[in-house]
Amino acid sequence: MSGEDSTSLVPGLYLVATPLGNLGDITLRALEVLRNADRIACEDTRQTQKLLNHFQIATPTLSCHEHNERQRAAELVQAIQSGARIAVVSDAGMPGISDPGNILVSQAIAAGVPVIPIPGPNAALAALVASGLPTAEFHFLGFLPERAGARRSRLEELAAAAVQLQSPQTILIYEAPHRILETLADLESTWGPETRITIARELTKLHEEFLRGTVADLRRELAARERIRGELVLLVESPPPAATPRQSAEPGVSARLAHIQSQSGVDEKEALKRLARERGQSKSDVYRELQRERARRR
Ligand code: SAM
Repeated sequence: MSGEDSTSLVPGLYLVATPLGNLGDITLRALEVLRNADRIACEDTRQTQKLLNHFQIATPTLSCHEHNERQRAAELVQAIQSGARIAVVSDAGMPGISDPGNILVSQAIAAGVPVIPIPGPNAALAALVASGLPTAEFHFLGFLPERAGARRSRLEELAAAAVQLQSPQTILIYEAPHRILETLADLESTWGPETRITIARELTKLHEEFLRGTVADLRRELAARERIRGELVLLVESPPPAATPRQSAEPGVSARLAHIQSQSGVDEKEALKRLARERGQSKSDVYRELQRERARRR
């Protein structure tokens, strides 16, 4: 393996992964690139300065965040065309993954300048490998929509798609601690209480924690805490277990609705109400299950 020094670093855009918490996770190659680059474009220069001070790196920094990335990209690509080596970092993890970096990469590629990944820490993958959930196939979602209605619709859409999967997979979601209980409540009502999940909290930090279980159990456990702190990754096993066995054990919603309608001559709305009562579920839960069944058949 060849080391990277100021002479071997070719002009280009270097996407440098930085630690999620534990500074020991910085790679040797990341240090070499940060030390020998001409400039470091940072999501937040103050945050990155702490990392640079720790490793005694004096490379000049400049800001490149979601509000100025487009304009910065033009400047930085021009600098690379004139021979500069530009490193890009976010506050933590891989730049470009739920973080700025993607616009810069597209513009660099369009201008024909080299784009070089310097791999390292990433919260989603660190959480996945230790989650105990399937790793062969996974779906990275990033953050769910903040608005409650949009978040619920997204989860319903995913549930409808999940029942059509040929093999199990894991869905990876970045979530904020102040929203996790709401998201778990939405997940429980749209995916079912038995859905298997893992919550990875404070990865690589002193209070690193993995919670593994059903969505109902983990919601109860977190709700009992005085406060939920730190950063979180939520991992959901897909499809939920209820999607397969329960449907084979019970008649489908549409079959049962058709039966109620033919027996009592009521319309679908009334039949839904009766079926919800029969199953001890809410009308909207039964309706969502009906939609999922219909989507599966399409
Ligand atoms: N680019 C980063 C990466 O590669 O993982 C992700 C940046 S995104 C703005 C921040 C989110 O990542 C947090 O809200 C949390 O969901 C997750 N995250 C970051 N650090 C984490 C940690 N130490 N433990 C758990 N989750 C973390």
